[in-house]
Amino acid sequence: MRQVDRHQKYLGIPALCGRSKKVLFRELLYRMWKKLRGWKEKLLSRAGKEVLIKTVIQALPTYLMGVYKLPAAVIKEIHSAMARFWWGGKGDERKMHWLSWEKMCKPKCMGGMGFKDLAVFNDALLGDEEGRFIKSARVEGLEVVGDLMDVGRKEWNVDIIESHFNERDQHCIMAIPLSTRCLHDELTWAYSKDDTYSVKTAYMLGKGGNLEDFHRVWNILWSLNVSPKVCHFMWRACTSSLPVRKVLQRCHLIDDAGCPCCAREDKTQSHLFYRCQMSIKLWEELGSYILLPGVEDEAMCDTLVRWSQMDANVVQKGCYIL
Ligand SMILES: [Zn+2]
Repeated sequence: MRQVDRHQKYLGIPALCGRSKKVLFRELLYRMWKKLRGWKEKLLSRAGKEVLIKTVIQALPTYLMGVYKLPAAVIKEIHSAMARFWWGGKGDERKMHWLSWEKMCKPKCMGGMGFKDLAVFNDALLGDEEGRFIKSARVEGLEVVGDLMDVGRKEWNVDIIESHFNERDQHCIMAIPLSTRCLHDELTWAYSKDDTYSVKTAYMLGKGGNLEDFHRVWNILWSLNVSPKVCHFMWRACTSSLPVRKVLQRCHLIDDAGCPCCAREDKTQSHLFYRCQMSIKLWEELGSYILLPGVEDEAMCDTLVRWSQMDANVVQKGCYIL
């Protein structure tokens, strides 16, 4: 029987044995790079890359992040390695990143690709049962909820609440009915159904979903009845991250933004999709011309929402034409 004299790794975390955390993090990065390099990036579709990043790469540091707070520099390196893999580019050659990684980390229902923001995820993993690790802004002079109450009369202390909170928050606080029993203050996690801390709710809180980012199009887009490849293309059209000639010119990658098909005007996304003679012919021949009226005056996101009300078969064809 073979005897193991030293445990190199436990649950994916190399045993410390006097080595510094720096070494630990470097090993993590090395493992990640090895994986990324092993995949034939050029042969993978965006949909394939999405799956690999979510299931393999983002899962690599999970154990480590449950124990340590990763330094910002390490997280930055992981994020940029993932971004490089996503957008392509070999070795030192750097391809254009058409959308910031931060935007890609937004949930899919808010226009992102739903990748994890590892810094926020790290904080969420390190939170204890009551989420003590996550701190909200302190209000001076107030420590516990009881400070906002007139305990003797068992009602809210309107003066204190009015002097400390804005109108919206005042309404929210005073709308909470007070118990007639005098209970002691207790820390609970308000973001889950059973008051207990969960990594998922803490992550959503940390990401601070902005309602302005919410657009009906995202749910429509990701449930389109088309192949994953077409879905990803539509997502790029909606986030204006397609490298059309006009964009390439703005980035000083080419001099002439003119459309090579018709030489009539600059090749913008809207020209490519709807105005170019070649495209119009395609729309006509495939019997989807009905989708075109109005498209030039609106953003791609709004177009897709409007299309979702129309004949699903025609819309499906339209997406494939794009
Ligand atoms: Zn053209």
